[in-house]
Amino acid sequence: MNIAIVEDEEKLASILTEYLSREGFDCEHYDNGKVALQQLQLDKADLVLLDLMLPETDGMTICRELRKSSNVPIIMTTARVEEIDRLLGLEVGADDYICKPYSPREVVARVKAVLRRTSENPQQEQATTGLQLDTDTAKVHINGKEGSLTAVELELLKTMMATPGRIYNRTQLMNRIYKDNRVVSDRTIDSHVKKLRQKLQSLVPETEYIHSVYGIGYKYEIPG
Ligand code: CA
Repeated sequence: MNIAIVEDEEKLASILTEYLSREGFDCEHYDNGKVALQQLQLDKADLVLLDLMLPETDGMTICRELRKSSNVPIIMTTARVEEIDRLLGLEVGADDYICKPYSPREVVARVKAVLRRTSENPQQEQATTGLQLDTDTAKVHINGKEGSLTAVELELLKTMMATPGRIYNRTQLMNRIYKDNRVVSDRTIDSHVKKLRQKLQSLVPETEYIHSVYGIGYKYEIPG
């Protein structure tokens, strides 16, 4: 697997290269946005780690340009939390993002998660989590234990499980749960998520599947 690291901070780029290489990825580093875009349009990478602020051509432009001709998984890295909705939206089209400052370990985990969910093999994911969702009976199975979910909890878990690592804000979750365009308060979403987390924790107390992301929303993470 080839990972393109587009990052103008030399030190950060070499740390990422070191961590990702250790995991068996081949890394190509670009420190200039314009050069990166030209090269990425010629050479296909398996995943692009893309910084937002870059010399000459910024990350958002690169992402938008690449999306015109390619579905390559793109993870944006940014310190600008207020841009996140735009980055993940249709206009820019990134697959995920990581907030700076980040730990290299977190980046490696996120790269693997995005590659897993874009490799069109959802079975694999289920096998590694130990968590299985039966949508017909609204039951969740973890390590031989079983729990019942409400319709809302089922929809919440199904949505987040489909894209591990992706952060959903409350509006996005609300739109998934209530197909009738109903608007509910953030507190309502929070209380449904809270109950869902309690149910999962009653099955496996030592594992967190759903994580809250301060100021943004919630995400499902594959444990371990
Ligand atoms: Ca930068």
